[in-house]
Amino acid sequence: MTPVEALERVVHCLDRANDSGFKAKAFTRALEVVRGMSAAEVAERAAGNTLTQLEGIGDSSAKVIIQALCGDSTYLDDLDRKTRISMSPGGAVYRAALRGDCHMHSRWSDGGASVESMAHTALALGHEYIVLTDHSARLTIAHGLDRQRLLDQLGDVGLLNERLAPFRILTGMEVDILEDGSLDLDDDLLAELDVVVASVHSKLRMDSDPMTARMLAAVSSPHVDVLGHCTGRLIGKRPESTFDADVVFGACASFRTAVELNCRPERLDPPADLLNRAIELGCFFAINSDAHATGQLEWQPFGCDTASQHGVPLERIINTWSADELLAWTGRSNLASH
Ligand SMILES: [Zn+2]
Ligand SMILES: [Zn+2]
Repeated sequence: MTPVEALERVVHCLDRANDSGFKAKAFTRALEVVRGMSAAEVAERAAGNTLTQLEGIGDSSAKVIIQALCGDSTYLDDLDRKTRISMSPGGAVYRAALRGDCHMHSRWSDGGASVESMAHTALALGHEYIVLTDHSARLTIAHGLDRQRLLDQLGDVGLLNERLAPFRILTGMEVDILEDGSLDLDDDLLAELDVVVASVHSKLRMDSDPMTARMLAAVSSPHVDVLGHCTGRLIGKRPESTFDADVVFGACASFRTAVELNCRPERLDPPADLLNRAIELGCFFAINSDAHATGQLEWQPFGCDTASQHGVPLERIINTWSADELLAWTGRSNLASH
């Protein structure tokens, strides 16, 4: 393992432990510094014990670099053990059935990793495909993509797919559901994308009636395939949005818009009562990491545990299907409907 690979692995492990504190920032900074150096210079400084004289390299990152050069993985093995994601036996059955992940972000919007790194990590986790769903333009705080940037991204994804085949990066977007229920992207592009996730990110405290109408409009759109983090809650920080679950999930079931089990530890949406109702109403589901970094792609077990506790029917989880089956279901291929 090279020093860069070792530092990448450290950052990955800290991401999956949801550590965004000083340590994670320090290792991310060290990784940037080492990426900017030649292998010879790194080796020379390691041998001369002068790595820490560099701005951005501290004792811990120097240790990781030196160990990588010596073929010693003590630090990494220890960190790997401490940050491993645990899973219930029931959750493991669901995780084993997943073949992809339909919601994640890259550096194009507010993610921390390149599309390629996300794809490589997903591949290493055993996935056959990912859906790249960066934010839409209205979410300026997350550097959302406007029409032109999305077109640029589609070009890049096309080139990456040629290199990564048979692994597939499906095109998509996490489109904002605007206040009136319309979608923050032109219809022609919505129609072109493989999988569209639609989420509410603004005016989350709207009264239940207008919120219901807003969500109903979005989930009944023929372009929308997945309803992202339906209540918008941030556990301990932001309450659930209120809406008529029978109306919204009923529409999800009839228009075949999957309800997302969002696996981010601070979201874990939908809450138990809503999830039970969505199951009763016959909805499809997607167990999505909503990862903003490679390590966060390892968060699907959280949603798998929930799915197992509530008995979500496996055959109704759209990312247990192959990419072709998924595309047939979203209507983006000529294959027969699932
Ligand atoms: Zn979101
Ligand atoms: Zn997201």
